[in-house]
Amino acid sequence: MIDCHVHTHENVNHKNELLERLSVIGAKGAIVISLPPDNFYNFTPDYTFQERIEHIKKCCDGAQYLFPFFWLDPTSADAEEQVEMCCNQDIKGFKVICDHFYPSNKRAMQTFRLIAGKGKPVLFHSGILWDGKVSSKYNRPVEFECLLEVPGLRFAMAHISWPWCDELLAMYGKFQRQKSMYPDTASEMFIDTTPGTPPVYRAAELSKLYSIGYDLENNLMFGTDGNADDYCSEWSEKLMQSDKDILRSLDLDDEKTDKYFSKNTERFVHGC
Ligand SMILES: [Zn+2]
Repeated sequence: MIDCHVHTHENVNHKNELLERLSVIGAKGAIVISLPPDNFYNFTPDYTFQERIEHIKKCCDGAQYLFPFFWLDPTSADAEEQVEMCCNQDIKGFKVICDHFYPSNKRAMQTFRLIAGKGKPVLFHSGILWDGKVSSKYNRPVEFECLLEVPGLRFAMAHISWPWCDELLAMYGKFQRQKSMYPDTASEMFIDTTPGTPPVYRAAELSKLYSIGYDLENNLMFGTDGNADDYCSEWSEKLMQSDKDILRSLDLDDEKTDKYFSKNTERFVHGC
């Protein structure tokens, strides 16, 4: 298993501790997301973006299956500089939460084009956003339709966009059609199933994903929203087990299950 959605907070524990906690549940790695940009939480102490890059690199410290993702505000004045520096420092991808701008924001779109040109993926928050601000409207799936105009962008929509899962699936269909018509240039959507979804919705949403008739088996990724500094193996295992039970009830074979729990995340990160 590779957990596609793990956050870091202020403490930096040695990467070995995270790897150990992952290995307890048979997981070999994770996408590890940096500290947020300084305008995200009012209470987060300010860090320069260089400090945040250093911090996330230290958290992953070159481990083969810990993938450092830099949390970027694509509208910031020096977004290009941040992207360039991340790419020079072997950051594997970007995390974006649209908390004060629509994805179609002109500056954000320029930044997404730059990232796509670098061949790096973007993991977007989508769905209800629990940040204490009026911000969920920026995170409805249909607002991400603009990414059709970012050639070659590999991006993931986190939390199955809960509660707008049906809207997300409709968008996925549109992106997939575009990809089948223009395989070399179209952008590609992945769906990160990190809850999000309260347990009562989970089986229904996963079963829709696998039965809607779109080709989703290569684009779904398992994640937990865990915390790298204090990764809770028990909780991740519980979620993993419950997802496994749901997938079994849908008659998914081992290959598809394997893709869901690890292979698709590797493809999202590396692009092949
Ligand atoms: Zn998260």
